Amino acid sequence: MRAVIAGAGIVGLTTGLALRRAGLEVVICERAPEIRAAGSSLGLWRNALAVFDALGAGVRDIGKPGEMYFHDPAGKLIDPPGFGPEDHHYLLVHRAKLNDLLADAVGAGSIRLGAAVVRYDESETGVTAHLSDGSTVDGDLLIGADGAYSAVRAQLVPGSEALEHEGHHAWRAVTPATGVAVDRDLMALGTHGARGGYARTRDGGAYWLLSQFKSPELTGTVKQQALERAEHLNEGGWNPVLAELIAATPEEAILHNQIMYVPRLDRWVSSRVALAGDAAHAMSPHITAGASLGIEDAALLGELLGSTVDIPAALISYQAERIPRYARVAELADAVEFAATPEEFAAHYAAFSHWMIEGKQ
Ligand SMILES: Cc1cc2nc3c(=O)[nH]c(=O)nc-3n(C[C@H](O)[C@H](O)[C@H](O)COP(=O)(O)OP(=O)(O)OC[C@H]3O[C@@H](n4cnc5c(N)ncnc54)[C@H](O)[C@@H]3O)c2cc1C
Repeated sequence: MRAVIAGAGIVGLTTGLALRRAGLEVVICERAPEIRAAGSSLGLWRNALAVFDALGAGVRDIGKPGEMYFHDPAGKLIDPPGFGPEDHHYLLVHRAKLNDLLADAVGAGSIRLGAAVVRYDESETGVTAHLSDGSTVDGDLLIGADGAYSAVRAQLVPGSEALEHEGHHAWRAVTPATGVAVDRDLMALGTHGARGGYARTRDGGAYWLLSQFKSPELTGTVKQQALERAEHLNEGGWNPVLAELIAATPEEAILHNQIMYVPRLDRWVSSRVALAGDAAHAMSPHITAGASLGIEDAALLGELLGSTVDIPAALISYQAERIPRYARVAELADAVEFAATPEEFAAHYAAFSHWMIEGKQ
């Protein structure tokens, strides 16, 4: 069985690895001329790490364990009752290093670079992906792991364009050791809908991030925008390191995003085409779990397609399992977003993480 995968991001590469391990032949078509990762670092939760462990991907060797506890705007640590330390543990990994590791594990021979999928033809016996250079790739099935602006989704579910999460913006960067003394990891829930903090990276640098719900109109440089929001997390001056890290980061190294999301879909598959990762469910990152959940998609596709020759039935089972899980994700994520106080935010966040890593429906 041969699978064509559109997109060599974290989910496309993990899907490729899962399908190869399950005995399928894989061709990953990536639009970019090289394997790369938009963004800086990301936190992987226990559910994602279990998938990588099972695939023998060695992801723990490139990450730094961290703990997700929040402080309130004035610096008081919030430890929501009812949760154990394991509900707060995650692994911080550098996105580009992760994608390189996964691409090596999949094998260069299975990846075509500079190969944007623009559309597909589907028949009862297979799928043909059409690439932007006019060439085609045939397979028994096509997985659209081509991100929030997915070309595969545009054809499979017309009218499902990614939407702006109005007023929700994020700023982030990975900095090498800057001379700023970072002696701990710290996350804070500030005033004005701002949140953020920093975590030490495996190689002695730091990852800092800031985001804001209902942001006022953006003015100034991205560094000025981030510095302005850092003040919302520094009531009484208890948290100066975040602003120092931002100040020490070159302007061009700061990534700013208007947050986008994919509207809830009631269909993720046809007989021979399936969506995975952000292509299916790009969500607001205030629960920092989009990739971890996309990695679950990849693992399930590997499990189902490796144990059958009935592709349409496997894809229906995939959809039947994933859509309800994401409906619950949406409910739990809304509870975090609309929390009235930092204590409520932290409690809903821990409730979401607990639910996700336990793998409950
Ligand atoms: C600020 C922020 C912080 C986040 N933090 C976390 C976190 O801590 N933990 C977490 O789990 N998640 C986090 N996320 C979410 C996470 O970044 C995404 O869920 C994840 O990157 C999605 O991976 P993907 O492979 O589905 O899509 P992408 O990473 O978008 O990859 C898609 C790939 O497809 C390629 N492509 C696009 N179109 C085509 C085409 N037509 N043909 C071929 N290739 C194509 C692209 O070049 C790209 O390589 C965060 C998101 C944001 C915005």
